Amino acid sequence: AATSTILDVKNLESWYGESHILHGMNFNVNAGEVVTLLGRNGAGKTTTLKSIMGIIGKRTGSVAFNGQQLIRMTSDKIARLGIALCPEERGIFASLDVRENLLLPPVVRPGGLTLDQIFELFPNLKERLKSQGTKLSGGEQQMLAIARILRTGASFLMLDEPTEGLAPVIIQQIGHTIARLKKEGFTILLVEQNFRFASTVADRYYVVEHGKVIDGFANADLSANMDKLHTYLGV
Ligand code: ATP
Repeated sequence: AATSTILDVKNLESWYGESHILHGMNFNVNAGEVVTLLGRNGAGKTTTLKSIMGIIGKRTGSVAFNGQQLIRMTSDKIARLGIALCPEERGIFASLDVRENLLLPPVVRPGGLTLDQIFELFPNLKERLKSQGTKLSGGEQQMLAIARILRTGASFLMLDEPTEGLAPVIIQQIGHTIARLKKEGFTILLVEQNFRFASTVADRYYVVEHGKVIDGFANADLSANMDKLHTYLGV
């Protein structure tokens, strides 16, 4: 089938203040794919997502989304193009209940999921509608963090380590959710340390090391790349 590139990152460099973190990232994501960034702690995966979202001090190079250049765009404009980031720390407001957390992010584009559609994907959230953020389990918080960006109309979802700290059964649920979202036409850029989980959802992988992409391969070629991967990830 013909593939169309939705996100094209070229020579992306980023800085936190004086700290030069990304040193020329090159990768792309096609429409409807799940692409996973792998790499050791501190390799620059989170920084890559923040750089795409425009929430980092300084960035140079090229980030093209549907042909539009994001490198000088502010994060609110980037969000309005339909790009959303679900951060590692999840960002659930403790003093708000599930419903209030869901309704908080502004709807930026038409086509966002309705609350009913969201509850169909995440039945637990419906039962917990009146529960405060603090009362939710880690898994429920993660579901809520994903659910709330689906409401905004975003179609390109960046998920930063959604399985971190969660029990195997919850990780499996998140896997089903990602597979379902892919089927519904969402494009997903995932950062994962849990390689076993990543391999259940990813179409392709990129390996990040010292702020650069050092390798990339399709899930179909995974077994041929396993030895290299063990070396890269130190597992
Ligand atoms: P992790 O899984 O640990 O988050 P990562 O691959 O996502 O790994 P990043 O979080 O992108 O890595 O971090 C890349 C580098 O940037 C690390 O050396 C980190 O210490 C540094 N870094 C991250 N955030 C900041 C910040 N706010 N200010 C300065 N340096 C930072």
